[in-house]
Amino acid sequence: MSPLNGTLLGTVVFLASGVLLAADQPKPAAAQRWLMPLLDAATIEARCPVELERARAAFRVMEKNPAPAGILAEWNRVSAMVQNFIYPVYLQANTAVDAATREAALKCVEAFAPLETEPFQSEKLYARVRGLGPGDATDRQYRQDQLEAFEDAGIALPADKRQRIKEIREEIEKIALRFQSNVNESKEVVAIAPEETRGMPKDWLDARKRDAEGRVIVTLDYPTYIPFLTNAENEDARRRVYIAKLREGGTVNLELFQRVLALRYEMAQLYGYPDYATFSLRRAMAKTPAAVEEFLARVRSAVDTGEARDIEAMRADKAAFLGRPVADVKLHRWDVLFHEERLRRSRYQIDQQALRANFPSEKSVAFTLRLAQLLYGVTFVARDVPRWSSDVTYYDVFERTTSGIPGEFLGGIYLDMYPREGKYNHAAAFPLQSASTALGRKPASALVANLDRAGLTQDELETLLHEFGHVLHGVLSKTRYVDQGGTNVKRDFVEAPSQMFEEWARHEESLRLFAEVCPACPQVSPEMVERLHQARLFGIGVRYARQWQYAAYDMRLHTGAPPPVLQAWIDIERASPLGYVEDTMLPASFGHLLGGYAAGYYGYMWSEVLGLDMLSGFNGKLLDPVAGRRYRKAILEMGGQRPPQQLVESFLGRKPNGDAFFAEITGARR
Ligand SMILES: [Zn+2]
Repeated sequence: MSPLNGTLLGTVVFLASGVLLAADQPKPAAAQRWLMPLLDAATIEARCPVELERARAAFRVMEKNPAPAGILAEWNRVSAMVQNFIYPVYLQANTAVDAATREAALKCVEAFAPLETEPFQSEKLYARVRGLGPGDATDRQYRQDQLEAFEDAGIALPADKRQRIKEIREEIEKIALRFQSNVNESKEVVAIAPEETRGMPKDWLDARKRDAEGRVIVTLDYPTYIPFLTNAENEDARRRVYIAKLREGGTVNLELFQRVLALRYEMAQLYGYPDYATFSLRRAMAKTPAAVEEFLARVRSAVDTGEARDIEAMRADKAAFLGRPVADVKLHRWDVLFHEERLRRSRYQIDQQALRANFPSEKSVAFTLRLAQLLYGVTFVARDVPRWSSDVTYYDVFERTTSGIPGEFLGGIYLDMYPREGKYNHAAAFPLQSASTALGRKPASALVANLDRAGLTQDELETLLHEFGHVLHGVLSKTRYVDQGGTNVKRDFVEAPSQMFEEWARHEESLRLFAEVCPACPQVSPEMVERLHQARLFGIGVRYARQWQYAAYDMRLHTGAPPPVLQAWIDIERASPLGYVEDTMLPASFGHLLGGYAAGYYGYMWSEVLGLDMLSGFNGKLLDPVAGRRYRKAILEMGGQRPPQQLVESFLGRKPNGDAFFAEITGARR
């Protein structure tokens, strides 16, 4: 199987500004542009052991050289080689059209799990990294990151403990992959009688399959179940769909989750730490569980009032809707989206379903590209290249020059935006190649989402910008080493650039660009932007209270000995005003906590503190290209080459603070 580099068709289709380019515009040299190799199941199975052995052999060669000098560059080359094969395979495990390829890819990613630990348990490699001289700031940071990885792999422990840590890490990695696959592959549906679909838009109904009895089949992907919970008037039907969604993953996933918690706890103890939170957080910005708990306590007290106010407003609306006294009505979790939407319509005349006409899906993508183009001084050129589904699009990313002719080639992005059976069911950015200036290597990323083809709501437009923020973090990075490229940053910082970019979906100044990419779309007026703002603020108490519950649950699981995974969730939900819904098992699909967000879910809100604070660097001018380029240089290009505090301070010219975040979660931010 040969990689597809050089076999691209090279046809220029469309430039984000709407300008068609001639087919003879500059193209990146084939050696610079990386294209996704589309391996089939048999090829993945055949190549997987070969590639794994190749990586191991490369590390063995590195062990033969006792001199410290050159170790970082050597490591960088091997990391790049491993990524070249396994990152695309990982994407295929989540997006390949046929199930056999997804399964083969998943098995291959599992087979690569030992590589996360093995090299970092090598005393010879450890001695080389430790023996390195100081070098410049970038080398110092990479050396420090590597030393921490050695420590986390147990290099300082006796051989038997080290061996156990390797086994634990491999088992956790394999279970996490299986867990996500169980969620992705879940085929649960809910059959809804035609009379129970009152309130559903015609487009939505037309797109649904029916069973033999003529019932409407509600699948549990976002574009199907979210509109249902938002619009269906029949409470019992909403309840059934809500419960089915919150059973995804099933009891088998609860068992897998419990096993992972036990393994993490055992591992922390092997290192002499009291629990996994203490072990893991020492590498994060927060540093200690106490710092996280303190932050979460502040969040909790800031959102309490707003949550109670939102719930009372929705309860009153439910009573009015049902024509019953408020005292007789209880608001349930399956009511939240429905009554939130009704109130947004009646109070602010914002109808999420109608907004899809303002934000057609393809045009929303063009809008996002246009924003990035203006703000960061880049150009996107669509290319017809081999791709894994006809839904996928690909763009070359170039430096924008004053002449309008694309300048330096920066990288490539794939966009896979719509649901398919067996596909990853959330929205995420997948790195495919990390940048390395030392290797002349250009980054590539894929954005995987599950958007509605009919157009986007307010939330969905923000989700698109959020994930695109991650993609830009990857594709605009210019790091020396691949292991520091793009989103390889502290995980309580990784969301900050994405959360910041959501802001561009909220202001008239930026939304006005929609007219450029879609002159025929109904335009969002300044007065409507104000109503959108008010509509977004409604429900913010319930929203952040939920985020607090997730983060508090995560900390509960990883602090002290692990509790029973479902019961711990039930306890937290039951203590909240909306309570626990019998028969639901949210932890069975809470993939974040199986992967990189373990003892790290708080990081969403922690990052948002920085994301919202960084907005002040734009001085209220969201399209200021000078600020945009400054941000690109200070934050995006740097990836993980410096500690995040340092990057944010260099961009803001002051220490970051939580003012904007706490104003946001109490609905007081403009
Ligand atoms: Zn994100």
